[in-house]
Amino acid sequence: MRALTTGKPFIVGRELYYISQAVLNGWLQGDGNFTRRCHAWLEKETGCKKALLTHSCTAALEMTAILADIQPGDEIIMPSFTFSSTANAFVLRGGIPVFVDIRPDTLNIDENLVEAAITPRTRAIVAVHYAGVACEMKKLVDIAQRFNLILIEDAAQAILSSYEGKALGSWGNFGCLSFHESKNIISGEGGALLINDSRYIERAEIIREKGTNRTQFFRHEASKYTWVDLGSSFLPSELIAAFLFAQLENARKIIRHRLSIARNYHAGLSHLQEQGVIELTASADSLQGNGHIVYFLTRTPEERSALIAKLKEQEISAVFHYLPLHSSPAGLRFGRTHGTLRVTDDISNRLVRLPIFFEMRPADVRRVLNALASFFNATPSKTAIPDD
Ligand SMILES: *Cc1c(COP(=O)(O)O)cnc(C)c1O
Repeated sequence: MRALTTGKPFIVGRELYYISQAVLNGWLQGDGNFTRRCHAWLEKETGCKKALLTHSCTAALEMTAILADIQPGDEIIMPSFTFSSTANAFVLRGGIPVFVDIRPDTLNIDENLVEAAITPRTRAIVAVHYAGVACEMKKLVDIAQRFNLILIEDAAQAILSSYEGKALGSWGNFGCLSFHESKNIISGEGGALLINDSRYIERAEIIREKGTNRTQFFRHEASKYTWVDLGSSFLPSELIAAFLFAQLENARKIIRHRLSIARNYHAGLSHLQEQGVIELTASADSLQGNGHIVYFLTRTPEERSALIAKLKEQEISAVFHYLPLHSSPAGLRFGRTHGTLRVTDDISNRLVRLPIFFEMRPADVRRVLNALASFFNATPSKTAIPDD
């Protein structure tokens, strides 16, 4: 029996060929030909003003904290239901994450709670698009404009998702993507910063190049190449960009395929929901998103633990998501909450993610659904999953 887990790495096209080309080109540091091709692809597909590859989404978030000029004591409003990097990027600059609750339908920041969390120290809002499902961007853009705040999208999971026809990552001042091997489009480790406000482009290029004007120098816009600002090494090698470009060329195909896997899961999960043994949130029930995460809620946390253990015996790795940041050791130390985080606590206690990966077969999905039906003593769905 093969082990079923979330986010197994895969190749779809010319990844290895492009890597060998990068080697033969004799350019392995960053910002070579493949990096430029990735930038052009991202700019065209998302409509951002400038895309810059980074070595991770974490790095892109850290760049936004520098670009937003976060100073010690500045506050950044964000959900607690997210990955540590969303908060860490700002804490590294002395910022204070202010956690607000999420919506029970999308698991995204509750836009109606944001305004009340704003204080004179608030500098930015971070919108995290969970499972590639959009936050209420119009409302968040409006709040950010009225209060003169910087809006950052943690779009780590949201590549090729959109809100009202406009790509996620292109709504805020900045968008941050991840190409970690657990995400939809991968390069092992990898990410990108999308810049939607051209005033920030030049400084972003400097921050990404160790605080130097090297990028401008190579474009013949500066006569010397020297240390001009804060910065670090945030750019990936051409080997990473070569692999990534092959994935980007196939991005639509990859996401279509993941959505077909998610649809195969859906009939079975809906059937369990009809029998009252699991709960699908509104966005999971309507199959929103980009096929990044397949999840449901158990009735109780105890049931979730028992289920995860049972599935593990059958080599099916189901996991929970997330341990909320506000009650984590570092969250307690570096952040604060605004209001109660009742939805966050409830959802994170009951959410189960099911295995999904590019090479998952219909038979694998059947195996997971049968294991679930058996655990819940439920009747399996009669909707057949077609073999492909
Ligand atoms: C994966 C993820 C990150 C981190 O991405 P890396 O590329 O691994 O740094 C940040 N935020 C969210 C919401 C994520 O899912």
